[in-house]
Amino acid sequence: MTTKLYYVDAYQMEFETGVTKINEDERGSYVVLRETAFYPTGGGQPHDIGGLNGVEVIDVEEIEDELRHYTKEKLPSGTRIVHGKVDQERRLDHMQQHCGQHIISAVFEDQFGLPTTSFHLGKDTVTIDLDTEYLDDDLLRKAEEQVNEIILHNIPVATKWMSAKEALEFPLRKPLAVNGEGRLVMIPGVDYNGCGGTHPASTGEVMAVKLLGWTKNKKQVRLEFVCGRRVLDKLGQKHRVLTDMKRFVPRPEHQLVEEVNELIQSGRGKDKKIAELEKQLLKHEAREIVSESQGERVIQRIFKDRPIKTIQTLGKAIIEEAPDAYLILICEQEDQLQFVLAHGADINRNMNEVAKQILPLIEGKGGGKPDFVQGGGKRVMNGAELADRVKNLL
Ligand SMILES: [Zn+2]
Repeated sequence: MTTKLYYVDAYQMEFETGVTKINEDERGSYVVLRETAFYPTGGGQPHDIGGLNGVEVIDVEEIEDELRHYTKEKLPSGTRIVHGKVDQERRLDHMQQHCGQHIISAVFEDQFGLPTTSFHLGKDTVTIDLDTEYLDDDLLRKAEEQVNEIILHNIPVATKWMSAKEALEFPLRKPLAVNGEGRLVMIPGVDYNGCGGTHPASTGEVMAVKLLGWTKNKKQVRLEFVCGRRVLDKLGQKHRVLTDMKRFVPRPEHQLVEEVNELIQSGRGKDKKIAELEKQLLKHEAREIVSESQGERVIQRIFKDRPIKTIQTLGKAIIEEAPDAYLILICEQEDQLQFVLAHGADINRNMNEVAKQILPLIEGKGGGKPDFVQGGGKRVMNGAELADRVKNLL
């Protein structure tokens, strides 16, 4: 069995020790050591990373009673002694988040009667699930205040191995679920909990906790938060976003939300107005096309790069003005041809029949109502050619 140095001193990041095994499994090459400061995945706390003789350690797992250090490259066979170095920044971050979680869970359970049912230490934020369906703002504010108060009091965090029976002397959240010795983590007056994670020496090292918000998760609440340096990182990120935003919306911070909302509303109003004006313009264009066609039986126009929606609206406006005419509108797009085929109310013919004969010519798809169909296909000929083909069928 590997001696777990992280249980002796959670701050020891470097060590020298003997290699007991170099092997591989389905996860990759791994090394087993006589003793280690590398914490393996467990109890909601992610594994450490770092190096062994400068070879990158990318994962640490406890499998089949072995503490396996997975390395990026295989350690040279015959290596007997290694110098191990744990990524300190990552570990101290995990200790801050993990200990913060102990305090948060304790406050929610003891002060508000809401036990924690699960815990996830993520890359960016941390979450716990609380056995409730709702958290109000006032409760969140009070809980955050109390958690930070406990941090500020800099209460020592102690760990002790003991039997389940000995542990019964402490106000445990749940009994130590072990045969033989279990590890009790004690924050006097706050939390007594069986836990195999790594913890800082006192609550002050958690620095600060910021509750970020919650979402519904099944019948529970998932509360998201950050502790320690992550509070500073988050503040930095948010400050950058606000600073960038103020370049475009130069207003004091407390007016930004209102101002951006006003901008969005006014943008929507303008979009609506523009759509109305476009419709009027298309009506005008339709009238012009009808008057230019001077009572011809077939009205046809070829366009370039206009949205099919515009062509449809224009088509509808034209046949309203010319009830006794056929209409062919074709739009040449970059590598596509799109069309509208229609007729006025005085003509009785199913334009789907016409489209059916035209679509194969351009390997296209389309259809619609008997008096108004639209479609499109490949630009294998120019718009005028396609218009002629249609005209011959009318
Ligand atoms: Zn813990």
